[in-house]
Amino acid sequence: MTDIRGITEKLCDTGSLTRDEIICLLENHTPELQSLLAERASAVARDNYGNRVFVRGLIEFTNYCRNDCYYCGIRCSNRNAQRYRLSKDEITECASYGYDLGFRTIVLQGGEDAYFTDEMMTDIIRSIKKEHPDVAVTLSVGEKSYESYKAFYDAGADRYLLRHETADFDHYAKLHPSNLSAENRQQCLYNLKKIGFQTGAGFMVGSPYQTVENIADDLLFLKKLDPEMIGIGPFIPHQETPFADMKAGTLELTLFLLSMIRLMLPEVLLPATTALGTIDPRGRELGILAGANVVMPNLSPVGVRKKYELYDNKICTGEEAAECMICLKKRINNIGYEIVTDRGDNVKYKREH
Ligand code: SAH
Repeated sequence: MTDIRGITEKLCDTGSLTRDEIICLLENHTPELQSLLAERASAVARDNYGNRVFVRGLIEFTNYCRNDCYYCGIRCSNRNAQRYRLSKDEITECASYGYDLGFRTIVLQGGEDAYFTDEMMTDIIRSIKKEHPDVAVTLSVGEKSYESYKAFYDAGADRYLLRHETADFDHYAKLHPSNLSAENRQQCLYNLKKIGFQTGAGFMVGSPYQTVENIADDLLFLKKLDPEMIGIGPFIPHQETPFADMKAGTLELTLFLLSMIRLMLPEVLLPATTALGTIDPRGRELGILAGANVVMPNLSPVGVRKKYELYDNKICTGEEAAECMICLKKRINNIGYEIVTDRGDNVKYKREH
């Protein structure tokens, strides 16, 4: 008999498990174990951040992408995607609108779009920081050289999100064409950390061909990298991709992993993602109750929202950001938490910098 209780206690007490122990928990993941872990994980989140939930305003500023990731709706081979780019003025206007709504973190996310040169990016970053010095700027624009990342950092960018997608090299090769490698992606993450960014990694839950061993390796990779932020959400198929007929990741496994991650990295900033809200109407609330402490509502102009479609049926593509905030605030209050106007820096990073 495996000692699930013993492993669970070890996870809660030390935050460290062996690969075999992680696999054992994943294989014996029951609703009872999930509620136990969620209770412990949300208590750990409250110890570190109180009942505060941080908001990040997401501006999806381009859906042009040179890459062809098999899972992603804006992959370059999707000829049916309607491509768009926001201008610098549209981006900074969105940021100011977000500022007025109380956002103190702005996330600029996009495909890997060469139109936005380093000069343009640094100009946009500087403009936002100049107008709103108390805003944290987060970038999520994929794999770049060390020099580009350094230029973004020097221009004032504070954080960078780059999910590692899967730590396993063979699994990575099943999700991406051969010009993309897990090795380069992981090197990018180490570069970002070295430069001084608060760095975010993460992966999709239930991505095609993912095994419990892969998930164990993802958790061990995250533990080793020790990022300030971790983004995980269920894989959701997109009709115009090679993975159109693959199964989506589940709510249950995503919640279980959010709790495990909170217990392994107690101080990490952990969003309840839009993808989680997409597979279940209460997904984001349940994510917070499982140990997440960040939500990332959309600040992109409503006219382009539907076009930034990474997966099918994405939520909140019709409402203005102000309406989304009212709805989200209510939802978060209803479960005993509070959305705050705060940069929401990682507490460990803050202590050390
Ligand atoms: N170009 C940037 C941003 C990518 S989009 C980059 O390379 O980092 C942000 C994340 O959305 C991806 O890292 C991926 O994990 C997730 N994503 C993409 N397609 C998805 C899908 N079909 N279902 C769920 N998540 C998806």
